Amino acid sequence: MLNQWQTKAVMASKTPSPSTGLCFLVGAGPGDPGLLTIKGKECIEAADVLVYDYLCNPEFLRYAKPGTERIYVGKKARAHTLTQDQINELIVKLTREGKTVTRLKGGDPVLFGRGAEEAAELAAAGVRFEIVPGITSAIAGPAYAGIPVTHRSHASMLTIFTGHEDPTKPDTSLDYAKLAVADGTKVFLMGVERIEEITGQLIKHGAAATTPMALVRWATHGRQQTLVGTLGTMAEKVREAGFKAPAVAVVGDVVTERDTLNWFENRPLFGKRIVVTRTRHQAGALTRRLTTLGADVIELPTIRIEEPRDLLAFGELVQDCHTYDWIIFTSPNGVEAFFKMFYKLYNDARSIGGVRIAAIGPGTADKIREYHMAVDLMPDKNFVAEGLVKAFKDHQDMENTSVLWVRAEEAREVIANELTGLGAIVDEALAYRTVPETEDNLEAIARLKEEGADLITFTSSSTVEHFLGLGIPLPEGAKIASIGPVTSATLKKHDLKIDIEAKEFTIPGLVAAIEKKLGK
Ligand code: SAH
Repeated sequence: MLNQWQTKAVMASKTPSPSTGLCFLVGAGPGDPGLLTIKGKECIEAADVLVYDYLCNPEFLRYAKPGTERIYVGKKARAHTLTQDQINELIVKLTREGKTVTRLKGGDPVLFGRGAEEAAELAAAGVRFEIVPGITSAIAGPAYAGIPVTHRSHASMLTIFTGHEDPTKPDTSLDYAKLAVADGTKVFLMGVERIEEITGQLIKHGAAATTPMALVRWATHGRQQTLVGTLGTMAEKVREAGFKAPAVAVVGDVVTERDTLNWFENRPLFGKRIVVTRTRHQAGALTRRLTTLGADVIELPTIRIEEPRDLLAFGELVQDCHTYDWIIFTSPNGVEAFFKMFYKLYNDARSIGGVRIAAIGPGTADKIREYHMAVDLMPDKNFVAEGLVKAFKDHQDMENTSVLWVRAEEAREVIANELTGLGAIVDEALAYRTVPETEDNLEAIARLKEEGADLITFTSSSTVEHFLGLGIPLPEGAKIASIGPVTSATLKKHDLKIDIEAKEFTIPGLVAAIEKKLGK
């Protein structure tokens, strides 16, 4: 039994620390999740409230601590969710309430981001704020298209201007006569919709129509697209290709460097749109591997891990874990839930005693090692329940050995049944449960419906069941990849055809199988 103090420790939730109110105006970079600064990430982690807009990668929300309020304020051209005034009011109000507010903006917050206006409002309201610069699309966008904005042999100067204003209006604040003849590279943002007027004005005021030019759309994202032409041809090309915002435009001889420097778009899975259905918390490992290979990943978490219904019962079993001969872990989630509970109850790793530890496969084993525990038994291959049972059979006589199986509430009973059949005494610690993810996937669902996908990945039976539960039709032509035979059996049960199955039932195994089938 747990004593009073332990019961409290098990049930306790984190209480937020009081703060005096501080607003971070953070540049979230151009989209590639790796292009957020370390300070930016720290601001997300510290936030009580996140206020974010359209060009900010929603993946960053996962750095927030549980319970962080998230407010989407939109700002897609002409579809403002809140007006700028309302945004200003909102961040002032939240900061005044004593909260740590992290205002995430695409790129850099003060380069055409209206960050200065938001800062001015905060200053006027007398609340504390900090500006956290970000990597701007104006430089990173061209770089990801293989275009350096300066170059010793082409350009020693860079001009960045907004394409938002109509250059043919008399009250435009941009002097196209000067812009047209300025040396070096020119970059403009927000210019797709006025591409014809902008390029026309530059040529009219003396820029050569043959000047190389490129537009980079959704730069640094997996869905990046680049259009190359000249000042004279670009407007026509945009029309023909139906090319849309958001895009960075870059004008100058540096564009020719793309012929040799186009690194991003030449990676093996570039141009392949792949859906990841595991929990938001776990998606990262798979997403990172796929994006490193160049894939455009849509994270559509279908499931979420929650505490088990009977947390105290779980706590009691964990408390007694040292009395068993074996602890069996069949998922990384189980390992996390176990050690979270273990360290609520004990302050000393040695409290686990001499118990031996078994893992179903390498992903689970890696998680166990993260807690500095060694794995005593794991199947050589066949990383499923049957494989683990066989590993036990080959390892020792199970008669009268006591086993604590740390499992999900919803799991196949193979381990308990088979080991009991071998004479073991098996206790089952229900460590967590898998529930449908209902938050944060609206944008991903919309993207999937709108843009389709080349491949959908399933990393467990529950991702299959809950994906189907969403009722989204499978995108036309989308292939299906499965992590292993158990997941494949669930797919087959639902009459879905499996195009790719991992040879090794792990995330790296799945990625290797995908690269083999889809890679260029
Ligand atoms: N503060 C941002 C710019 C905001 S203005 C920055 O520093 O990047 C919005 C414009 O930025 C868009 O219309 C587009 O021109 C450009 N932009 C932002 N992110 C982009 C991306 N990932 N790819 C292409 N253009 C982008």
